[in-house]
Amino acid sequence: MKILVINCGSSSAKFQLFDIDTGAVLAKGNAERIGIDGKLTYKPAGKEDFVSTEPMPDHKVAVQMILDALVDKDHGVIADVSEIAAVGHRVLHGGKYYSESVIVDDDVKRIIRECFPLGPLHNPANLIGIEACEDVLPAGTPQVAVFDTAFHQTMPAKAYTYALPYELSEKYSIRRYGFHGTSHRYVSHRVADFLGKNYEDLKIITCHLGNGSSFAAVKDGKCQDTSMGLTPLAGICMGTRTGDIDPAIVPFLMKNENLSADEMDTLLNKKSGVEGVSGVSSDFRDLEKAANEGNERAQLALDMFAYQGKKIIGSYAAAMGGADVIVFTAGIGENTDKMRKAMCEGLEYMGVEFDDEANNGLRGKEAIISKPSSKVTVCVIPTNEELAIAQETERLVR
Ligand code: ADP
Repeated sequence: MKILVINCGSSSAKFQLFDIDTGAVLAKGNAERIGIDGKLTYKPAGKEDFVSTEPMPDHKVAVQMILDALVDKDHGVIADVSEIAAVGHRVLHGGKYYSESVIVDDDVKRIIRECFPLGPLHNPANLIGIEACEDVLPAGTPQVAVFDTAFHQTMPAKAYTYALPYELSEKYSIRRYGFHGTSHRYVSHRVADFLGKNYEDLKIITCHLGNGSSFAAVKDGKCQDTSMGLTPLAGICMGTRTGDIDPAIVPFLMKNENLSADEMDTLLNKKSGVEGVSGVSSDFRDLEKAANEGNERAQLALDMFAYQGKKIIGSYAAAMGGADVIVFTAGIGENTDKMRKAMCEGLEYMGVEFDDEANNGLRGKEAIISKPSSKVTVCVIPTNEELAIAQETERLVR
């Protein structure tokens, strides 16, 4: 069965075509600068890459160009678009409505639209992507929406409710939703398989450390808590996002720096985090290099990231009454041995015996990085959100 996975942004559409029976990626690429000029980068497996700069006035044209590339006689990987059994769409926000992926129908589209205020940058683009596929693919090709928020919908009210006036929370649907759900779901299931353990029996802390970073506490096979909130700004400090700060800082800076709400939003999301602290970069490779060369603020940013992550891990162990497994994933979690070690340092009290030898130099591979005697098993599990979306899509359409 062939499944097309689409992750639509406001001016881009990233895609991967999977043969789900083998897990192979037949082709992948990105349609960028939609509505500006247009650039399609297309990488078919075993054939030459292909770039087109034909104009892409809208998402419908972009999706058509992707399909044309997939069936092209020179660089195509399928004979006809009817071979695409279904399309899985990454959708940011399903609000309180979806704890699972769903086959798209008019109701689903209405709810994705209803959630526009919660994901103003992503949800409109995600819906445009769905509608473009409906227009361009053969009638009846199923579309599946896989929500970033869905995995976290099992959190209890005490974990997702903010201590705001209850009526206001209800009026605006303000609560903790959490993000990266597809990744947390994937790596938590994958680690149980990898360890040969029953998913429902484990207390798992998943640490998705990338440009955006979030943690999840998974117990009895369900997400119990997560570090991102109403928006992906909450939790640990990130590349350019503050993470959790004293909320009183917001009106303080707005008054003293004379900032509008939009300017404040930009400051919190785009000018803060490890880049804001270090003044160097949001990329951890640059930070590690600068810190090694003696840059104290780069070192401070790295120390803050490790310290805040460690505090979240400790708090989730407290919330779940312990932890059996800690999983590191995403760009930083999969690639930086130093950060994994720094985040686990001092967790001996809760039963973590870190294995330096297994950790040192480990990159992008499934592995155990705690000692065999460790009460808590620490693992690296590379995430694969696209494959997870394809698998979810297959499960629903089968
Ligand atoms: P996202 O999907 O959220 O954009 P990724 O999961 O790709 O992000 O993670 C990106 C981050 O991973 C980069 O900011 C970079 O700091 C970090 N990263 C990737 N590779 C390495 C590496 N080899 N060493 C250190 N950090 C890395």
